[in-house]
Amino acid sequence: MRVLALLDGTLADPDSPQIRVEDLGLMRGDGVFETILVVGGKPRELTPHLDRLDRSAAMLDMQPPPRAAFERAVELVIGNWTGGEEFALKLVYTRGVEGGDGTPTGFALGVEIGPKVHKQRAEGLSAVTLDRGIDADLADRAPWLLLGAKSLSYAINMAALREAERRGAAEVIFTTSDGSVLEGPTSTVVLVRGKTLVTPPSKFGILPGTTQYALFRAAERAGWTVLVEPIQTSELYDADGLFLASSVRKITRVNVLDGKQLPDSSALLAELQGLYESEY
Ligand code: PLP
Repeated sequence: MRVLALLDGTLADPDSPQIRVEDLGLMRGDGVFETILVVGGKPRELTPHLDRLDRSAAMLDMQPPPRAAFERAVELVIGNWTGGEEFALKLVYTRGVEGGDGTPTGFALGVEIGPKVHKQRAEGLSAVTLDRGIDADLADRAPWLLLGAKSLSYAINMAALREAERRGAAEVIFTTSDGSVLEGPTSTVVLVRGKTLVTPPSKFGILPGTTQYALFRAAERAGWTVLVEPIQTSELYDADGLFLASSVRKITRVNVLDGKQLPDSSALLAELQGLYESEY
């Protein structure tokens, strides 16, 4: 099941062509996107996702995404969804057609969540650390690299996931060249030490995660300490729990990292999932 809504407020057939071959989103990955979780007809963290779409578009010097049109497209997809209780809602916004009049292309597409995600949410996964080839100051020094923008250029992220598969793992934790933890290709890293949650700072050129933010909000209210600070790769192996957070996967535990079995964090996972769900 899929539902496609365009920014002019119409529904379109996702099985028929909608995008011009000269679209710069297609030709150069020149555009931005968001993926939002919808549960029981309600989009989670819609405003933070739309704010981040604005922020990513600004980093690419694009026209601001038309918020009312995106909100209408979101409502249209949700209103016409007849599939499962939970689905993923993708918002896409590109620079438009090469040589065209500069009008951006945008749409909202609802898609089912695959069985792999459900399995990983329940059972956890194995991950490997991979060098992202950057240092912690690069985002500040070279903003044109668009580190921390949710741009459509995710080919590197997808290549890293294939490298993980070659190494017998399902996921990746990117690190700086000097061993500081960054993020997953589509997720935020959350580490647990006692009653403290830690995630690396977005100034390292990583995406500020809406799921991690919601979890930290709930945890802080429940008396946890939440820290946004650098994490060294060596700290990942002996933490009480290591988790990947993202809108569609919610909070997923890492069982094995770089071939090493991590401490059993299933009870912690249940606690964090409870905190996260208490936000909705
Ligand atoms: N980091 C990257 C690179 C991502 O692509 C994503 C989401 O896909 C995240 C982190 C997690 O963000 P969110 O929790 O808002 O989905």
